[in-house]
Amino acid sequence: MKYKRILITDPVHDDGIKKLKAAGFTVEERYGESPSVIKELIRDYDVLIVRSATKVTREMLAESSLQVICRAGVGLDNIDLEAAKEYNITVFNTPNAPSVSVAELVIGLIIALFRHISIGDKGLKEGKWLKKELKGLELKGKTLGIVGFGNIGVEVAKRAKSFEMTVIAYDVLDSALENAKQMNVEPFGPSKDALEAILRNADVITLHVPLLSSTYHMIGEREFSLMKDGVYLINASRGGVVDEKALLEAIRSEKVAGAALDVFEKEPPGKSELINELNIIATPHIGSTTKETQRNASVILAKKIIEFFN
Ligand code: NAD
Repeated sequence: MKYKRILITDPVHDDGIKKLKAAGFTVEERYGESPSVIKELIRDYDVLIVRSATKVTREMLAESSLQVICRAGVGLDNIDLEAAKEYNITVFNTPNAPSVSVAELVIGLIIALFRHISIGDKGLKEGKWLKKELKGLELKGKTLGIVGFGNIGVEVAKRAKSFEMTVIAYDVLDSALENAKQMNVEPFGPSKDALEAILRNADVITLHVPLLSSTYHMIGEREFSLMKDGVYLINASRGGVVDEKALLEAIRSEKVAGAALDVFEKEPPGKSELINELNIIATPHIGSTTKETQRNASVILAKKIIEFFN
């Protein structure tokens, strides 16, 4: 491999940097630089690694010598992809890095809902011993409906199976449905009608689709009406996937027994009637906030860069 230079402008985990250095790359870390300084710097580098703070603009790329831009993270919103394509620069990200972290949070939230953990905790802090009131449910034998059977959906399914849940999944991609079949997960889709089967049959529904025009408010008033009475809902995908107004009504009418939300239409949600409901557990978009996600992202990036230049 010819001697290659890498510039990192947002902090990434050290393990990936070590891998790159061991593979013979020259790595320079320059955090907190202004766009004009980064523009100057990337005239002399082959690879640029960023997280979300650095905005990679067309103007920056026009005179760069970059062959690769890497984002340690899931989205690519901070990179001008059209300009990168025009200048023949390959762009990577690390969509798999947070999958296990998000899946573990989802399982934690299902258990927290089924066993009323946050209500019991709140009660005790207020001096109330709610032992009799908080009759819970076991996961064993319940049906989990996974909407969106991609990276995270698959990891959730693996874990739910270890709790002896029945897992059913809905996706629009044939490959995802085939994947489900291989894992002994009952597949529904790709037609939109198949979503109804999940809504009608699941005791708990977890959403793992991206936010697109086709998934915006995909769970709304009509969908809640199709669900089992006393269903539970988890949303750790993107806020707009659930119609929050419809969810508030479904919680108040007890159609939905409880919901856990890690994501919101507006983040942070501020004062919200929804999150003040006792049967709602709300977390501040922490699905991928683990030590492992950061490490995974840097190691995955390092591997991709090494493969690219080999
Ligand atoms: P992925 O791309 O691997 O999987 C998404 C799946 O959804 C794909 O299989 C796709 O075919 C399917 N899909 C797309 N449109 C659909 C539709 N209309 N109906 C049914 N299925 C549809 O993505 P992933 O890595 O599994 O991430 C899933 C979601 O989780 C994304 O929205 C992502 O932004 C979010 N996420 C949240 C956190 C967090 O901190 N809470 C962290 C990482 C990712």
